[in-house]
Amino acid sequence: MSFLYRSTRNENETATASEAILKGLAENGGLFVPDEIPELDVPFEDLAEMDYKDVAYEVMSRMLTDFTEEELRYCIDNAYDDKFDTEKIAPVKYHHGAYILELFHGKTIAFKDMALSILPYLLTTAAKKNNVDKEIVILTATSGDTGKAALAGFSDVPGTKIAVFYPKNGVSPIQEKQMVTEKGKNTFVAGITGNFDDAQTGVKKMFSDKELAKLLDEKGYQFSSANSINIGRLVPQMVYYVYAYTRLIAAGTIKAGDRINVVVPTGNFGNILAAYYASLMGLPVGRFICASNDNKVLYDFFTTGVYDRNRDFILTSSPSMDILISSNLERLIYRIAGNDAEKNAELMKSLSETGKYEITDEMQKNLYGFYGNFATQDEVSEIIRKLYDEDGYIIDTHTAVAVSVYDKFKAETGDDTPTIIASTASPYKFTRSVVTAIEPSLNDKEDFELVDELYKLSAVKVPAAIDEIRTAPVLHDTVCEKEEMEAVVKKFLGI
Ligand SMILES: *Cc1c(COP(=O)(O)O)cnc(C)c1O
Repeated sequence: MSFLYRSTRNENETATASEAILKGLAENGGLFVPDEIPELDVPFEDLAEMDYKDVAYEVMSRMLTDFTEEELRYCIDNAYDDKFDTEKIAPVKYHHGAYILELFHGKTIAFKDMALSILPYLLTTAAKKNNVDKEIVILTATSGDTGKAALAGFSDVPGTKIAVFYPKNGVSPIQEKQMVTEKGKNTFVAGITGNFDDAQTGVKKMFSDKELAKLLDEKGYQFSSANSINIGRLVPQMVYYVYAYTRLIAAGTIKAGDRINVVVPTGNFGNILAAYYASLMGLPVGRFICASNDNKVLYDFFTTGVYDRNRDFILTSSPSMDILISSNLERLIYRIAGNDAEKNAELMKSLSETGKYEITDEMQKNLYGFYGNFATQDEVSEIIRKLYDEDGYIIDTHTAVAVSVYDKFKAETGDDTPTIIASTASPYKFTRSVVTAIEPSLNDKEDFELVDELYKLSAVKVPAAIDEIRTAPVLHDTVCEKEEMEAVVKKFLGI
């Protein structure tokens, strides 16, 4: 079966899976969505006996219908190998009454590795299939973790170049050091004097600039995206929800067909949307619990049906979720509008012109299943300390947002369905917030000294990703205004 992807803003714009991955973004800012999501027609009991790669093949082959088995297996085999520090790839651990799905065992110790280890293979395979002879330029905006994961994935990949923009004052010191020490010869990194939304808007603008596209074409380049607006990010993220569910079956915790809930610490709405897509494929998810930090635009949306970004942007201890424009929500909006591109385009126009939109009552009914709540920075510190006190397990600040919201959800609803919580980063990426939550007196130490303190507290081995950057030289020192993004990209490409 070969289903098509379609733009959320123009029902006549379609693409095969490989074309959608290559383009990243549809015309006029639209996003590619699958016309229908096929059923995962493999019994869960069978999936429970498969390893990560085989589960990945079963899930991804349903979504990427124009890839051959050989092509897809090649991509999967090269992505989920010993770059990950555990053969399980995404281990599930029981703490605080929930199943914590650790998604941070890849190269850059954040969940972005789950998709960005495979995206370069998907993209270069897609280029070959479509006879693309241009060099692919990956443009990426990052709230901290996508940047390094994308750099690591595309570093020195032939036929590609990658440019990353991050908010100069909006990422953790360790996140920044990871990016600015990147050695790949085809890489470029710049801080911008603005926040993540500015970076993302700047990147989207370059994507839809027809003149720029023409110039690139003449010079032998074409853009693609490593952000979760690329379907090539979302599809690999569906895999680990199915994987986690089937690990619970294998462990005898649940039976095939039992419902679970999922909690996802959310920023750009990619990770939780992948869980939703997995449920449309047949994964029995009861509630999708969307956890926000103080930038609680999604919580307000789920409670009122109004999306309103007109508010202060707050820098928090969970910087990868400091976002007011959650791009992937558009894919859900399109769906709850009954796959109505016209209605969606109208709402997105309102978002870009007035910063807000309101969905209809009918659409809001279709949001059943989603629950939103948020955690303040104090609540984040509190829950980190609480889990540490319970059994010595240390979580990062983003995961802490999720756990805190999970507690609120349970208190509010009394729902005690077995629950998977997406743990999106290693605590070693956010040492200051994590260590001082447990031991406030250590706040006068340097971030890298706090690495050693975290080791003493957790006895979890310091990840290679941290050791590598401690003394690594800074190779990227560009800082620009948000208005200068296009100019620095041109300079990087020499055009
Ligand atoms: C990116 C990120 C998130 C948010 O994920 P989205 O897919 O953007 O919703 C949460 N936590 C961490 C650690 C991240 O890096």
